Amino acid sequence: MEIAPGIHLIPGKIGGRPLQLYLLVGDAHILLLDTGTAADPEQLIFPYLETLGLGPADIDLVINTHADADHVGGNAALKRASPRAAITCGEADRNFVRDPQVMITQRYNAYRASHDIGPDADVHAWFVEMLGEPQEIDWTWCGGEIIRLGHDWSVRILSTPGHSPGHLTIFDPSSRTALMGDAVHGGIGVDAFGNPTFPAYIHVASYLDTIEHIRSLDANTLAGCHWDVMRGQEINQFLDSSLDYVRRLDDLLIRELAEMPQGATLRDLVRSGGLKLTDGRPVSELEVAYTFAANLEHLVGRGPLVRDDSVHPVRYHLSARQS
Ligand SMILES: [Zn+2]
Repeated sequence: MEIAPGIHLIPGKIGGRPLQLYLLVGDAHILLLDTGTAADPEQLIFPYLETLGLGPADIDLVINTHADADHVGGNAALKRASPRAAITCGEADRNFVRDPQVMITQRYNAYRASHDIGPDADVHAWFVEMLGEPQEIDWTWCGGEIIRLGHDWSVRILSTPGHSPGHLTIFDPSSRTALMGDAVHGGIGVDAFGNPTFPAYIHVASYLDTIEHIRSLDANTLAGCHWDVMRGQEINQFLDSSLDYVRRLDDLLIRELAEMPQGATLRDLVRSGGLKLTDGRPVSELEVAYTFAANLEHLVGRGPLVRDDSVHPVRYHLSARQS
């Protein structure tokens, strides 16, 4: 379906959530935003191209919004079917995107060494399957670049870190459409199975900057990969709920630690705090760990908390002036 002139949404699924890929069809160039999981080029993208009378070889450029299995897993299959399509991503995500092994060890197991939290065998196998074969990156973007897609149509690339270090958003000034990938996540949601879904960001200050960066675009349409396409006032409400989650989590972590004189591990806080955020609905430890770890480190950096690295797993405490 076309959400703005020349901008198509390709609807897929990942777990119990939507996975929306975007195709920008200009009269000079065709740009695909994200390649989905390893199976998605064959199952989702190529059949959609066919409905437009196009084939894989018509794609000139692929931009991976960020380093995650459901956004880059199809890179190798796409390149096989369309050898002249350039595969690109944000510079700070390059090492994750080009090598599934680095993605698994450094992104999906980022909390293993300090916090003993990471994917179990089933989830690990799922990541491996989604990530597919390694695929070299042809070039990278740092944000600020402009791509001409047609004789009177250009789009801008924006750096929108927080969910990943090199996350990119594409902004089309002519329709005021922002294609934000997973740059901003709103609040706690619910998936197709009725389970809560949590925002995921790894760096609070960058995420907060990205929320305001996207607000400053004054977009008419905000289209991400796992949320319904938003228009008008829905956009500010979504950005406000994104901000609200970050602030609520800061408050919750400080309140929890105020009642734990011995301090707590990331896992302790994920278990007690995660349930409070969902009114007791069960939460996935790994999914919740991202924002909890990010907010804890943010609070350590700003002073309210201290981190004890002398024990394993690492423990957090209220700093002396807070307790
Ligand atoms: Zn995603």
